[in-house]
Amino acid sequence: MIPEVYKVIHRQEEYPGTFTLHLESPASPPMVYGPGQFNMLYAFGTGESAISFSGLEVEEGLLVHTIRAQGTVTRALERLKKGDSLGVRGPFGRGWPLQGIEGKELLLIAGGLGLAPLRPVVYRAWQGKLKASRARLFYGARRPTELLYGDEIPHWIAKLDVVMSVDHGDNAWPGHIGVITDPLQASDIDGANTVAFLCGPEIMMRFCIQVLLRKGVPESAIYLSMERNMKCAIGLCGHCQWGPNFICKDGPVFCYQDIRAWFQIHGL
Ligand SMILES: Cc1cc2nc3c(=O)[nH]c(=O)nc-3n(C[C@H](O)[C@H](O)[C@H](O)COP(=O)(O)OP(=O)(O)OC[C@H]3O[C@@H](n4cnc5c(N)ncnc54)[C@H](O)[C@@H]3O)c2cc1C
Repeated sequence: MIPEVYKVIHRQEEYPGTFTLHLESPASPPMVYGPGQFNMLYAFGTGESAISFSGLEVEEGLLVHTIRAQGTVTRALERLKKGDSLGVRGPFGRGWPLQGIEGKELLLIAGGLGLAPLRPVVYRAWQGKLKASRARLFYGARRPTELLYGDEIPHWIAKLDVVMSVDHGDNAWPGHIGVITDPLQASDIDGANTVAFLCGPEIMMRFCIQVLLRKGVPESAIYLSMERNMKCAIGLCGHCQWGPNFICKDGPVFCYQDIRAWFQIHGL
């Protein structure tokens, strides 16, 4: 429960209000974590927020986190500059089940900031380290100026099928305009041989799951990352209880088959 002190060694503005921090601890050994897990980042004097890992595992001992300034804590994190300190607790939660994708087609489906927890998986695919037979990324954002990792995506495209969609585009936008479910629906998906990882707003995940089920992807092959307000991150306080689960320790990544009953209850 005691945070370690880390230093900001690099800060990158993704677009206004959303930024990526690279953190280093001079004292702690490199943190070992898996894609889809998260840390609690502590802005001193303000509080903690759950933030997913968005970089490579043990990337030269660095932690990489992408954050949207949303409220009190994340706005305090937004004010951090290179050289400033913050507290880090983690890693927490269960991440993406990479061991279950061998020989399968992997669909990564991200909405908005939901690309952040999937980026470690994208990196692995890009480096040829995934055991999937093929990997495809479907990424939906509000507008072209709100794409995460805009400078990296052209490099990903060289090694990965990337389908992008924005809600509001202009003539210069080369991708799809509308919701990401449209290109997902239009794509050839070998349902029985597919595993899908989803992260994004719940409404987007609901519609994408409907498409996947229609395409014959089994419920047991659909995984989604859930988000609820979180405090202790170790299953004690109950803030993130969702049905019989605690998002912090039973998730944040769940198999759709296991949580279908709770996912279908709006507002739970
Ligand atoms: C497992 C997990 C991973 C996450 N990963 C990331 C990440 O990589 N990057 C990122 O920017 N954010 C991430 N979040 C969300 C982040 O934790 C919250 O946005 C943050 O804690 C809000 O804190 P705040 O003090 O800034 O806002 P507050 O002042 O506490 O709240 C601002 C508003 O956001 C709502 N809110 C707060 N927390 C959540 C939440 N978890 N889900 C939905 N609504 C919430 C509040 O009800 C309020 O309306 C993640 C959350 C979880 C549970």
